[in-house]
Amino acid sequence: MNAHPQLGWIGLGNMGTPMARRLLEAGYAVTVYNRSKDKEAPLRAAGATTAASPAALLQQADVVFLMVSDDQAIQEVFGGPDGLLAAPGPGKLLINMSTVSPGISREMAARSQEHGHSYLDAPVSGSVKQAETGQLVVMVGGDAAAYERAQPLLAHLGKLSLPLGPTGNGNLAKLAINSLLGVYAQGLAETLLFARQHGLRVEDMQTIVANSALGNVFSKLKGDAILADNYQAAFALKLLAKDLRLAQAEGLGTPLAAAVHETFQQAEPALGDEDVIAVIKHLERG
Ligand code: NAP
Repeated sequence: MNAHPQLGWIGLGNMGTPMARRLLEAGYAVTVYNRSKDKEAPLRAAGATTAASPAALLQQADVVFLMVSDDQAIQEVFGGPDGLLAAPGPGKLLINMSTVSPGISREMAARSQEHGHSYLDAPVSGSVKQAETGQLVVMVGGDAAAYERAQPLLAHLGKLSLPLGPTGNGNLAKLAINSLLGVYAQGLAETLLFARQHGLRVEDMQTIVANSALGNVFSKLKGDAILADNYQAAFALKLLAKDLRLAQAEGLGTPLAAAVHETFQQAEPALGDEDVIAVIKHLERG
């Protein structure tokens, strides 16, 4: 591949914005597209060019990254008269970093191949902070040649990228780890809630967790958020509820996964736009 390929980035939400910014800062020419145009302004100010549609973006890029919400967003970005696959020109590499179903990755990989493009599913573990600092973990499904082409670019985004076999395997690994995320989030919320309801100070419980073998980056960030009463979404609760539904659809129905799935589906209508750890408010309401 061209040593310095032209890059395209679709999806400038909480994650896409800092990830695209890292590629710009690494010296790549990046063209961005976001459905809501206002979110393109910070990237334009940082040196990106913009495209009017996914199809227009594909024509300007050798490699296109996608970081959008869900399967439906992927359908819309790939399909339609202005979609990625409406543009002429084979030989592009499409790297879908969104958390979506393995099924949609297999479908989009097949359609991409019909147009002469390569497709990788490459969802990430880590949140906004890790996106900003290039410390994500990238789980990749797809063929080895495409991975080899992507790897130097992924190295700017993650501390680790791991090829996991055929298309969809990156998505499956992501659903597996986000099931654990759901268990951690609910477990931490239940622990702090129990302590608070019995008159213990949340600060003290947070100190105990942090100094025990059970403390980790997640418990620190989310425990601090509870203490600060700050539920602004770094990772929106509705996105985790979506991931847990996708995991269930792949057959993950073991006891903890089932319990966490149920909790987050119930919490989503009222708290979906808040951070995942707002699940504590749902649990508190009983
Ligand atoms: P977000 O802030 O909600 O951003 C979602 C992005 O998707 C926005 O750019 C949005 O465009 C776009 N989008 C949604 N529906 C679309 C559609 N129908 N057509 C075109 N674009 C559409 O989400 P995020 O937190 O960045 O997450 C992005 C993906 O990464 C999700 O799959 C999420 O599960 C995954 N993820 C998130 C985190 C995290 O901590 N936040 C961590 C790991 C993985 P608009 O601006 O127009 O709405």
